[in-house]
Amino acid sequence: MEKSADIRAAINRACELNGVPELANKITFKFSEKMTSCGGKANGAKKKITLSSPYWRRAPKTGVDSRENTVYHEICHIIVYYKWEQSGGVKPKPHGDEWKRAMRKCGHTPTTTHGVKMPGRGKKIKCSCGCAGGCEMGVIQYRRMKRGTQYKCRKCKKTIS
Ligand SMILES: [Zn+2]
Ligand SMILES: [Zn+2]
Repeated sequence: MEKSADIRAAINRACELNGVPELANKITFKFSEKMTSCGGKANGAKKKITLSSPYWRRAPKTGVDSRENTVYHEICHIIVYYKWEQSGGVKPKPHGDEWKRAMRKCGHTPTTTHGVKMPGRGKKIKCSCGCAGGCEMGVIQYRRMKRGTQYKCRKCKKTIS
């Protein structure tokens, strides 16, 4: 999976296979450079998929296409939410049976991990700002900062160094 057109095709295909073809063009997607903790995210209410650019670059293209799996993973969240919106009742669990069934209908294994370890996930580096105790930054932001990107502390609004 390489281009936006591939993702669009996957959305159409997944909705078709799950019996909700009318949902396909309501779904939008975008890439985020800031998303580093996971491969993707789905907003059922807004029908929006956000995909992590760092993840997309790192995902191996050999073997099982983990990009494709991630894309279907997020689409299926929206499909499950949509079906629930239509029928009401008990809200399905994020990775519950409904979601697993939707994934299998698309021919994908319903795994909840995104296959690729994200760089430095969860690790924090101590930095200084205007606050007495300084602040912490994620590894990716820290590396970018070292390359010249400026970040401001959310609390004191001073530039972090
Ligand atoms: Zn998920
Ligand atoms: Zn601060």
